[in-house]
Amino acid sequence: AFAKEQVLRKRYHNQMQDMKGAIRVFARIRPQVAREAGDKVGVRKLDAFSMEVDDKRDVKQPAKNFNFDAIFDEHSTQEDVFADCRALVGSCVDGFNVTVFAYGQTGAGKTHTMYGSKDSPGLVPRAADELFEVVGRYSIDCQCRVICAMFELYRDELVDLLVTKTKGKPPPVLEVKKDSRGTVKVEGACEIEVHSPEELLKAIAVGQDRRHVASTKMNADSSRSHLIFIVTVEVTNNKTKQVSTGKLTLCDLAGSERLKKSEVTGEQLKEATSINKSLTALGDVIEALTKQAKHIPYRNHRLTQLLSDSLGGNAKTLMFVNCSPAFGNLEETGSALSYAARAKLIMNKVEKNSDSQEVARLKKVIQVMSNELEQARA
Ligand code: ADP
Ligand code: MG
Repeated sequence: AFAKEQVLRKRYHNQMQDMKGAIRVFARIRPQVAREAGDKVGVRKLDAFSMEVDDKRDVKQPAKNFNFDAIFDEHSTQEDVFADCRALVGSCVDGFNVTVFAYGQTGAGKTHTMYGSKDSPGLVPRAADELFEVVGRYSIDCQCRVICAMFELYRDELVDLLVTKTKGKPPPVLEVKKDSRGTVKVEGACEIEVHSPEELLKAIAVGQDRRHVASTKMNADSSRSHLIFIVTVEVTNNKTKQVSTGKLTLCDLAGSERLKKSEVTGEQLKEATSINKSLTALGDVIEALTKQAKHIPYRNHRLTQLLSDSLGGNAKTLMFVNCSPAFGNLEETGSALSYAARAKLIMNKVEKNSDSQEVARLKKVIQVMSNELEQARA
């Protein structure tokens, strides 16, 4: 019965996924921060699924529209955002590979969205609570193991952030391998089994501390590397001994800003080039998946190799594109949104013309509004 339920569950999830496209994109516009006070706002949410960005060079030009699976603005709370992600955590316990990443220029709100602060916890701490709640439900007839690993990908080097003692030696640079079943394994990576949300958050804190130390040593800003946290959930049915494994990968990506060659030299230029390469490789994989290409170029970069079992296929992917609302950031915001929009091409392909796209969008708006109405009535 368990196996059958699993199959049904998977089928249901696959259907959900087919309906929505393999990759979902949520845009989040953060509030203006103090240093932007006085700057005009050039980015606006229009409705639940669309937003617009002013033309920086000519404000009289019509603003550019972007459609995504959800738009959050300065009024959206961490709770609101998590409400739309919660189901993904359950899918991971159900045996799916789930990836959530935050993309955007430095200062756009990626870390706020993924980790948040003590007063305003983000997706990761909320997911930790949710994960153990779901695991608790499974534990009635299953054994569950929750294992985590944390890496920093800096200049094409994968650094283990959970490795304990390195005895003064630099932490080993790790290699990404794939086993016969297609599961990605980071050879020699330190994995910590955790038993509660608190233990999971402690592991994260340890990793973040080590990252901080490492980046200070290298004189590198943390926004110049990718932070990757991976939670693996192994569920063994007590009766059938069947094992299902799901993985939740959470990435706080390096800042997407393009540094002009004239502005940086030497080491900094190498760093900027390496970030560009990794984000381009990720974008190429997403585009290939979106276009349902035969060949998905996972091998082009260590970042995409690491994510190769968690992007595409049966995996569920959620990309946050974080935006500053400020006029002064319009160029970077526009390019981040265009990058994210590549993941939505599938919609353009499936639907015949822009009319039907607009109809689909409006249908979604109506659905959300009628849900809200129902909730208000209840
Ligand atoms: P990034 O990680 O993309 O570089 P941060 O998450 O560090 O950006 O955000 C930059 C600043 O803006 C931080 O001070 C953060 O607290 C604040 N911030 C970002 N998003 C929000 C938000 N949605 N609400 C309130 N403050 C935010
Ligand atoms: Mg950050």
